[in-house]
Amino acid sequence: MPAYPIQEHKFDMLVVGAGGAGLRATFGLAQKGLKTACITKVFPTRSHTVAAQGGVAAALGNMGEDDWRYHFYDTVKGSDWLGDQDAIEYMCREAIPAIIELEHQGVPFSRTKDGRIYQRPFGGMTTKYGEGPAAQRTCAAADRTGHAILHTLYQQSLAHDAQFFVEFFALDLIMDSEGACRGVLALELETGQLHLFRAQGTVLATGGYGRAYFSATSAHTCTGDGNGMALRAGLGLQDMEFVQFHPTGIYGAGCLITEGVRGEGGILRNANGERFMERYAPSAKDLASRDVVSRSMTMEIREGRGVGEHKDHILLDLTHLGPEVIHEKLPGIAESARIFAGVDVEKEPIPVIPTVHYNMGGVPTNYHGEVVQLKDGNPDAVVPGLYAIGEAACVSVHGANRLGSNSLLDLVVFGRAVANRAAETIKPDAAQPDLPKDACDFSIARLDKLRNASGDTPTAVIRDRMQRAMQADAAVFRTQETLEEGVQRIREIHASFADVKVSDRSMIWNSDLVETLELDNLLGQALATIVCAENRTESRGAHARDDYPERDDTNWHKHSLCWVDADGNTRIDYRPVHMYTLTGEVDVVPPKKRVY
Ligand SMILES: Cc1cc2nc3c(=O)[nH]c(=O)nc-3n(C[C@H](O)[C@H](O)[C@H](O)COP(=O)(O)OP(=O)(O)OC[C@H]3O[C@@H](n4cnc5c(N)ncnc54)[C@H](O)[C@@H]3O)c2cc1C
Repeated sequence: MPAYPIQEHKFDMLVVGAGGAGLRATFGLAQKGLKTACITKVFPTRSHTVAAQGGVAAALGNMGEDDWRYHFYDTVKGSDWLGDQDAIEYMCREAIPAIIELEHQGVPFSRTKDGRIYQRPFGGMTTKYGEGPAAQRTCAAADRTGHAILHTLYQQSLAHDAQFFVEFFALDLIMDSEGACRGVLALELETGQLHLFRAQGTVLATGGYGRAYFSATSAHTCTGDGNGMALRAGLGLQDMEFVQFHPTGIYGAGCLITEGVRGEGGILRNANGERFMERYAPSAKDLASRDVVSRSMTMEIREGRGVGEHKDHILLDLTHLGPEVIHEKLPGIAESARIFAGVDVEKEPIPVIPTVHYNMGGVPTNYHGEVVQLKDGNPDAVVPGLYAIGEAACVSVHGANRLGSNSLLDLVVFGRAVANRAAETIKPDAAQPDLPKDACDFSIARLDKLRNASGDTPTAVIRDRMQRAMQADAAVFRTQETLEEGVQRIREIHASFADVKVSDRSMIWNSDLVETLELDNLLGQALATIVCAENRTESRGAHARDDYPERDDTNWHKHSLCWVDADGNTRIDYRPVHMYTLTGEVDVVPPKKRVY
């Protein structure tokens, strides 16, 4: 084993990731009196959560009648009945205290005239179990809600004396022979020093893996490292075939134009200037849920009604909203459109196209944030010492399709849930059993191998191939043919990683090495995504197959679980969907046809 000295640390709880989910957990854990460390590869306030624009859902009812049960109903329907209804009940009910807490912690929400938190309409959010008018449920701080939340949570974490290890890159989970997680091995990017963080509990809050695709709204750092670590630890990932395309990424640049624009009255138009969503979703129109709008846009383009020289995109028109609304409610959008599309939104529409935005799949957990796996026939077996929250996790509250503004909510609700659970189950400063001497060897061996990789294909070339294959073959519409081809291509690209070439051998700020470690993580997730997509012969939520256009509850009302080993061998199994609630205060919503 090559010599890489390791510095050891011991905490009660370790959080990997400092986005909204990681920070909510970090400060909550510290507040509960647990000695807590948070390690993060980017400075906390640079996490992707900072880019969230539109808002965070909670049935506060500040701007019209609302009820958390309506929110529950909408989320179940939005999930296309793949969401676990116990977890959805938990999230929608806890949304209300969680948002009030955020307000008290200092999030500068936009206000109504009488001083309450301002709430805007968002896709798929309705009242009266889908029968009433659109709900105004999404709490916003102008169009910079994620920024406001992330900064507040970071300040709260500092106030509660959580310890931060910034620009530390987590390499691998350290599991013991009983299958419990005992901590993480991490690389300090500035010095190249390795650190072993031992903890009674480890929380994965590492975000999504949008960068498995070529065009994504997410940051370049969204490489799903926690999911990659879970796969290497022999854990299965859940529902990876469900990838959300946001209807309105800026054509070309991929940056997001929030759904809040349509919430404020923005309209999608085709080449004929027609408001085509009236045909696809007569009642919700432009505010149907994201999968429905993305598919409708793709249909318009396929049928020749796209705009531009190549008739390959759609227009988002907000010229009728007037400068006041734009100035007050959507200032960030006006700026993004100017910079990335060269458009003055008061005068011209924005060119947009469905763009990869969110991963519904991830590490399976229960509603406490504890990681679960299928074990000896038990689909809900808890993995001791391991938690997952935020976009890295699959609770599953979003099922086959996440509703806009339910992710920021999921971060704070389940970040908080982990802190509450740990407070009940973990004793501050309890003894931790010793680890075997070779506990980190497998991880160091991988690091050393990649650092010295002397193949012929640079990391960036393999990454580009993977991203283009995913974009083409695991797209908005899928068929057996494209998926089979995609599985083949991704398998080959995965295998080509054996030939990767890393040029920088140093240990100090080696971004070549870091990108290679990230690519290793992405490849496993790309493979899980495409094999599960090929396997699921139905259409549900974001997974739309031309050859199987209907949802098939008889055969497919179940979560996929996928394991990927280092050689790219995959195995698929299933977990049942939780069709029960936690209390008698809300009724299970039985599956029915999903129309907007
Ligand atoms: C442009 C955009 C706009 C959005 N708008 C909204 C919205 O309005 N409303 C809504 O509900 N949702 C929105 N979403 C979705 C939502 O913002 C994300 O799902 C959410 O922010 C993810 O948060 P997270 O805490 O799970 O991860 P992130 O915020 O992505 O943070 C991940 C953290 O993990 C750390 N990390 C990752 N890998 C490692 C590693 N190997 N070692 C150490 N640290 C690591 C990173 O440093 C980072 O701190 C939006 C998403 C995008 C991309």
